[in-house]
Amino acid sequence: MLTERQLFFKHLAQTSPDPLALEIVKAEGLYLYSSDGRKYIDMISGISVSNTGHRHPEVTEAVRRQLDKYMHLMVYGEYILSPQVKLATKLAGILPANLNSVYLVNSGSEAVEGALKLAKKFTGRTEIAAFINAYHGSTQGSLSVMGNEDFKRAFRPLLPGIRFLKFNHSDDLKNIDKTVACVIVEPVQGEAGVIVPEEGFLNALREKCNETGTLLIFDEVQTGFGRTGKMFAMEKFGVIPDIIILAKGMGGGMPVGAFVASEEIMSSFMSQPALGHITTFGGHPVCCAAAVANIAVIENEKLAETVTRKEKLFRQLLVHPLIREVRCSGLLIAVDLGDAGKVKSLITACLVNGLILDWFLFNDRSLRIAPPLIITESEIREACSVIIKCLSEIQI
Ligand code: PLP
Repeated sequence: MLTERQLFFKHLAQTSPDPLALEIVKAEGLYLYSSDGRKYIDMISGISVSNTGHRHPEVTEAVRRQLDKYMHLMVYGEYILSPQVKLATKLAGILPANLNSVYLVNSGSEAVEGALKLAKKFTGRTEIAAFINAYHGSTQGSLSVMGNEDFKRAFRPLLPGIRFLKFNHSDDLKNIDKTVACVIVEPVQGEAGVIVPEEGFLNALREKCNETGTLLIFDEVQTGFGRTGKMFAMEKFGVIPDIIILAKGMGGGMPVGAFVASEEIMSSFMSQPALGHITTFGGHPVCCAAAVANIAVIENEKLAETVTRKEKLFRQLLVHPLIREVRCSGLLIAVDLGDAGKVKSLITACLVNGLILDWFLFNDRSLRIAPPLIITESEIREACSVIIKCLSEIQI
């Protein structure tokens, strides 16, 4: 009989030659437990998902309560389902006033797809602007606005009419004109290796969009829900988009995403044609119940408020001759070693020592640290001491 490890390689579609292939049997808080009895510190949160930690008791309780009532009943938007209404109302309450109409989906990529369609429909325009080294997902629309040709070449033709701008280059904003339906941007570029916007850049982008009647879309799939030290990264930069895209950290470990706009913009999906965007499972009641509980945890435990202090501690502890730069936006952290080989060696050494780190898609000289926001200061010290010890070992 084949082992689960063998069956994993045989029957689960493989997308990389060397998956981590840890066999996890349980997860709780900051920790993952493997089938061979090992305990791992999760420093990546399933890629910025488990902001409240794994299986937060209030999230699992909300899931249980909802399971006892109902699961899927009807395609999105037909029935009045309390978990969906509660989640949409909560989001409208914590977002700026213009972002008050919520379309629920299953993932970040789907939210990107919906937002791009919405912008085209509302403006009647077809051109789209996006940024070099941006990541917005892997479906055909979201891939079209991904700013990295190596990941796209094999899948062309993709969406036409996409123009790419350089992040943090205000000069490039002149390429936004009255033919452009929307500009999609991550307020902090994640997969590029945590690239923070320079002072005034997002404001200039907002102004340019106002001038040209172009909708500004913030993709906060990775930066949302406390990750950068505010509930949403846009609050750090004082810029409000026309559409915001959410997923990952929203569901407390359950799959749910959303794109949110004003009622006026969102109403474009109601006519010519009606049912302008359709999803069967979007806003699944169990996932929405989890998300409502998860957002309450972020608020009640004041998790976002702890992030800046924790970011400082990481900066203070991540000092080593091999570390060239530490780029942070809250607990979205890139440690730049200047060399892909060293990054690989460090990730491997840390894994052997019970610490899970990861790469960035578009920056192989840096490694990713994005722990659950519940991480304590003593856990940060422990994790950083493993990293520094492993760095010293690979330096020899
Ligand atoms: N947008 C950003 C900024 C992301 O980081 C991701 C995923 O990493 C996505 C969109 C796509 O989200 P999903 O993988 O849930 O489709």
